[in-house]
Amino acid sequence: MKRIYEPAAYRTPEKCWWRDSAPPRDLTQLDTDLQTDVAIIGGGFTGLNAALGLAEAGTGSVVLDAAHPGWGASGRNGGFCCLGGAKASHAAITRAFGRDQAARWQQAQRAAVDHVAAMLGAHDMDVDRHSEGETFLAHSPRAMKAVNEAAALASAHHGVTPHVFGAEALPQLGLAGKFHGGVTVPIGFALNPGKYHAGLLDAALRAGVRCFAGTAATAITRVGQTWRVTTAQGTVTAGRILLATNGYSSEDVPPWLRARYLPVQSSIIVTRPITREEQERQGWTSVQMCYDTRALLHYFRLMPDGRFLFGMRGGLAATPASEKALARKIRSSFHRLFPEWQGIGITHEWSGLLCLMRRLTPFAGPVPDMPGVYAALGYHGNGVAMASYCGTRIADQLLGRPAQGPFPQFLTAPPRRFPLGRFRRALLAPAYAGAALMDG
Ligand SMILES: Cc1cc2nc3c(=O)[nH]c(=O)nc-3n(C[C@H](O)[C@H](O)[C@H](O)COP(=O)(O)OP(=O)(O)OC[C@H]3O[C@@H](n4cnc5c(N)ncnc54)[C@H](O)[C@@H]3O)c2cc1C
Repeated sequence: MKRIYEPAAYRTPEKCWWRDSAPPRDLTQLDTDLQTDVAIIGGGFTGLNAALGLAEAGTGSVVLDAAHPGWGASGRNGGFCCLGGAKASHAAITRAFGRDQAARWQQAQRAAVDHVAAMLGAHDMDVDRHSEGETFLAHSPRAMKAVNEAAALASAHHGVTPHVFGAEALPQLGLAGKFHGGVTVPIGFALNPGKYHAGLLDAALRAGVRCFAGTAATAITRVGQTWRVTTAQGTVTAGRILLATNGYSSEDVPPWLRARYLPVQSSIIVTRPITREEQERQGWTSVQMCYDTRALLHYFRLMPDGRFLFGMRGGLAATPASEKALARKIRSSFHRLFPEWQGIGITHEWSGLLCLMRRLTPFAGPVPDMPGVYAALGYHGNGVAMASYCGTRIADQLLGRPAQGPFPQFLTAPPRRFPLGRFRRALLAPAYAGAALMDG
């Protein structure tokens, strides 16, 4: 697999809280030749939701993961199950694809959150769920404009009444900090993504899906009317294939993917449980999931056991020097926003790759010139809900049936390639520098 980051970006995180709180299941490596209806490459939220959708319709699948299912972003994210999935704004999507498609995209985002909630119920998953919707906090007085726009968009498209508040209300809400107000949109919730993934995997195994770990797909070849997926010790022959590799995709499996996705690093720290007294000293007692208005946003939440999760984007490389710089930066951002917690121990720290697309919208559709091959990827760091949903909607396509929920057609438009080929990461440097300037 030819991948575009340094090898360290592809190692297993040593101190990831989700891995400690929901240890990955032991699965074997594929060591034989199998036949199935659909071969799914990648065992994250996309791949497993697709497998479950297929199983419900009586269609068999085999899931292959190069490391283990849940090893990628699905086992490393912040656990914000919320609206989102595109980096393009609502206005940009309206301009590019029209008003109806933009409205459909809004409906899909809401349906994605509802889909995850339904999966939790249907499979009886206990995922440490908390937070009544999500809270967007202004990092500067000027940023209240973005807060008001977010409130207006949510009420126009989702028929909810967002709660907009000023700086004076923050202490009462248990959100005291260096913010200038915010909005709570009552859609979405937080979860432990390790537990959610484990629940999906158990459900898939119960439904008869065959899942393999340590099984990298190294080639996809056409054999008559079927496809053959080659791995180190076995093959899978299937009528249809789903590529569900997102930010961990490679340039050559299959070569069509080359330069069509841009992996981006995001990092998270988690503290030891913070006592109620320590929470009160900071004025932060709320378990709302929050993010701020910075272009290089911070996302954070107090979890039900008192641990605090704080995440941010921004690493450009996975070299020891840049990892050290990032570790310093995430701590200084955390301590700047939560100065009373400077002495609180950080017990866990990890990074992962999310995935951008050139159009800044996800792709979930057929791969051109590869009949029966489909891909779903590019959730722009908002895939807990959207990857789950696109997995289910791509199952509709694999089954040859109309989408069983809101699904804008533009998501099936084949993604364009980024400029600069395997050096395309360089595009991030000026974008980050611009964002840092905007954030002040
Ligand atoms: C640090 C971080 C924080 C985030 N926080 C949030 C958040 O709070 N809320 C939110 O909505 N989203 C968040 N995201 C994004 C979200 O996690 C992803 O969008 C989502 O998990 C993508 O799921 P996926 O199944 O498509 O891909 P992944 O979970 O990345 O899975 C891809 C899998 O493909 C496998 N693979 C790759 N190549 C091959 C191959 N050739 N053969 C076999 N297997 C292969 C990999 O091993 C990997 O397990 C975050 C992401 C990161 C990295």
